[in-house]
Amino acid sequence: MKTVIVIGGGASGMMAAVAAARHGAAVTILEHTDRVGRKLLSTGNGKCNYTNQKQGLRFYRGEDPAFVLPVLKQFDAERTMAFFRELGIVAKERNGFIYPASGQASSVLDVLRMELRRMGVTVVTGCAPLAVKRNADGFWISAADGKAYASDSCIFACGGLAFPKSGSDGSAFSLLKSLGHSFTPVAPALVQMTAKQSFFKSIAGVRADAAVHLWIGGKWICSERGEVQMTKDGISGIPSFQVSRYASYALQEGRRVQAELDFAPDWSKEALQEELLARFHRDDGKTAGEALVGFFPGKLIPVVLKECRIALHDPAQDVCKEAIGTLAGLLKRMRIDITGTAGFDKAQTTAGGLRTDEFLPQTLESRRVRGLYAAGEVLDVDGMCGGYNLQWAWSSGYVAGMHAAKEDV
Ligand SMILES: Cc1cc2nc3c(=O)[nH]c(=O)nc-3n(C[C@H](O)[C@H](O)[C@H](O)COP(=O)(O)OP(=O)(O)OC[C@H]3O[C@@H](n4cnc5c(N)ncnc54)[C@H](O)[C@@H]3O)c2cc1C
Repeated sequence: MKTVIVIGGGASGMMAAVAAARHGAAVTILEHTDRVGRKLLSTGNGKCNYTNQKQGLRFYRGEDPAFVLPVLKQFDAERTMAFFRELGIVAKERNGFIYPASGQASSVLDVLRMELRRMGVTVVTGCAPLAVKRNADGFWISAADGKAYASDSCIFACGGLAFPKSGSDGSAFSLLKSLGHSFTPVAPALVQMTAKQSFFKSIAGVRADAAVHLWIGGKWICSERGEVQMTKDGISGIPSFQVSRYASYALQEGRRVQAELDFAPDWSKEALQEELLARFHRDDGKTAGEALVGFFPGKLIPVVLKECRIALHDPAQDVCKEAIGTLAGLLKRMRIDITGTAGFDKAQTTAGGLRTDEFLPQTLESRRVRGLYAAGEVLDVDGMCGGYNLQWAWSSGYVAGMHAAKEDV
């Protein structure tokens, strides 16, 4: 019987172990924390958005995003839902986002642990590998607890650097480097961004349906729309998360990063200007501030008026057409200077990682070390917010596990 060791008991590691066991291998997971799947419990705000009905290349990023295609083809979102359905998870869909009907991420972890038990997978927790050697007989792994483990194949499913308190701390990267592998630069992704403008202090907590356009070095990079959350020093929320990986890399390179916030994404500038003119020049005795009530979140009103040098308490009717044009322009394109992103401790995923050109996209086996596989976030693949990172973990875990169990070494 073929033996497979999986280093890391997160989403991809548990999936790899189940797949390898289902394909006839004797499988052991080596997990350095005291339990498997800790990060899963925090996913989707505790509800676990475990995949998305909408799939495609555009949801995945990395130096070579197309690397994901043969992997997703072998184990796609439909197969993922069927896999979890068979384990007991009923899917609940919201705008294409898939969650367990229980509303609990812990259910996803529980069914995986039950399946590991059913398939006879050995789970060794508190086990930190210190060295991984490949010799003619296979892999030889010595661990910090003084024990050694031998196997025919070895799957690295040790995660990236995001949310290190869950155990993904990059401690296995040196093992991969010692085996001849290399990494692309890493950066926090799906993370909040900080901005220079001081007005954020006064609008912290505001949530607005807005578009975020990201500019790097004066060049437009990408745009995302959704609920933007203002923090005391910048922006958060899904649209901000989606563009943050590009900001992270650009800031690492010392480049200028700006974001344009469009607070009226359903309006053209002209239509918005007309609406504002009508609101301001109505004969109803309102102040400039009052004229905007009902159109924008209240906390934003003094900030945008100040930016346009319109006095909050002046009669709305006294505001000239030109100033209203400036206000419409600002609401459509409020430019802010992005000065940083939060770190890996707050990031939901890692951009960058193990170079994908060192792995075969059909099997996820290393091109450098026979019998070595990689799965999940450790690879240079990051998904967008919306279930794509877990989909990558499930798909890559399944493919690596299946091939590790099947291929001759
Ligand atoms: C707060 C938060 C919310 C998220 N929500 C979602 C969501 O709703 N949907 C979604 O698709 N994605 C979400 N993600 C992203 C998703 O959770 C990860 O991309 C996914 O868990 C990656 O799986 P993985 O198995 O590659 O790594 P991980 O889940 O990080 O697992 C890696 C495992 O390896 C272990 N390990 C690390 N180093 C070693 C070592 N040296 N020796 C032994 N073991 C080691 C770790 O302890 C850990 O158990 C979220 C992430 C965070 C932080």
